[in-house]
Amino acid sequence: MTSHQHDPALSPASPRHVAVVGAGMVGLSTAWFLQEAGVQVTVYERDHVAAGASWGNAGWLTPDLTAPLPEPAVLRYGVRAVLSPRSPVYVPLRADRDLLRFLAGFVAASTPRRWRRGMAAYVPLNQRALEAFDVLAAGGVSARTQPARPFLACFRREKEAQALLTELAAIRDAGQDPTFFPVTGWQARATEPALTDSVGAAVEIHGQRYLNPPEFLRSLAMAVGARGGEILEGREVSDLQHRSGGVTVVCATGEERRHDAVVLAGGAELGDLAGRFGVRQPVQAGRGYSFSVPVEQPPRGPLYFPKQRVACTPLDGRLRVAGMMEFRRHGSPLDQRRITAIVDAVRPFLSGVDLDDRQDEWVGSRPCTADGLPLIGATASARVFVAGGHGMWGIALGPITGQLLAQTVLKGEAAPELAPFDPLR
Ligand SMILES: Cc1cc2nc3c(=O)[nH]c(=O)nc-3n(C[C@H](O)[C@H](O)[C@H](O)COP(=O)(O)OP(=O)(O)OC[C@H]3O[C@@H](n4cnc5c(N)ncnc54)[C@H](O)[C@@H]3O)c2cc1C
Repeated sequence: MTSHQHDPALSPASPRHVAVVGAGMVGLSTAWFLQEAGVQVTVYERDHVAAGASWGNAGWLTPDLTAPLPEPAVLRYGVRAVLSPRSPVYVPLRADRDLLRFLAGFVAASTPRRWRRGMAAYVPLNQRALEAFDVLAAGGVSARTQPARPFLACFRREKEAQALLTELAAIRDAGQDPTFFPVTGWQARATEPALTDSVGAAVEIHGQRYLNPPEFLRSLAMAVGARGGEILEGREVSDLQHRSGGVTVVCATGEERRHDAVVLAGGAELGDLAGRFGVRQPVQAGRGYSFSVPVEQPPRGPLYFPKQRVACTPLDGRLRVAGMMEFRRHGSPLDQRRITAIVDAVRPFLSGVDLDDRQDEWVGSRPCTADGLPLIGATASARVFVAGGHGMWGIALGPITGQLLAQTVLKGEAAPELAPFDPLR
């Protein structure tokens, strides 16, 4: 199908059996909310549950920081900085055509006006993001989200905090209501003994939460299974074909099954299948790294080092440390230099943490769109939907995405708050 218009002839009456491609946070949340409405779901996953970005991320549920990734500071960051493998944002010297196209769109979107427009689109989702987790909890997803008491962004000097304070003020201007206070380094260390006296200033953000990603994803998958959903692991979907009142999902194994509708939630690889249904927005892997280390006294909430772009989260009695934004091909091997760069960046700020005793070194791909907005809604086929491209925020926004997309699949029309995220934009 080449047209960007939805084909009404293909509109399913009321889908009873829906396939979801991808068992990450977004796919599983969508499956769960479809089940809420009595739909039978089958989740196809190439590898296993949480095989993608949904495993090794920082697990922050921080709607007060959830904003479009392209922003004016990116333009000031400069070309030289992004070409260094030690830089927190890295672009390889030899970018391919797809990457160049993505970067051109990304730079074009990094203006104050585009950022404000994108932020306004995020607000209605951010305002309901945590509520959607409560719906999952009330409906039987047993893994819990934790309140961050508080969420702490740490800086070497007071003036470094200004950029974050300005961003939080801009998020407030867009219509959200973040509660935040600048504090001294001394106050931050009194709250969090894991911080050294290199932390000279901090910003407390209240009302945020976090979760343990592997545990949460396991629990969400179990809940989908317990309600009668099928999760087929080891099934790569290689093709989708329209056939007499349905869509046939074709797996690389040769297996074929017909469904009333399909939701594509394949993370950074979303574009492979979605491109066949009129979705032209490139989805680029923004690769991030993480590992976990022992900590004498786990912090009471996440610690954020914005200048170094490093995120720390207490997890299973250890500290998960995450960072880097590497615009490289999904599936490229883990580059040990990035792990070293994260360790070096954060070492001066942490005490009682053994950064050399690392476990679970991991690289995963954030699904990034050039305009920084996710893709949520119908494609050129009214039977094929897309949910993904959340970049840095697919954990926080996975459940609300699933909730709104499930309504779209069932009603055949998108909720007004999804208009800016139209996959055919
Ligand atoms: C270092 C790091 C830290 C992060 N921290 C946070 C954070 O604190 N908070 C936050 O909200 N977000 C965070 N993120 C972003 C978040 O992890 C992602 O946005 C989110 O996990 C994306 O979820 P997803 O379900 O769209 O994709 P994924 O989790 O990548 O899932 C996609 C799944 O689809 C499968 N798949 C792909 N193609 C096919 C196919 N053809 N057939 C079958 N299966 C297929 C893949 O195997 C994969 O399992 C972070 C990311 C990174 C890398």
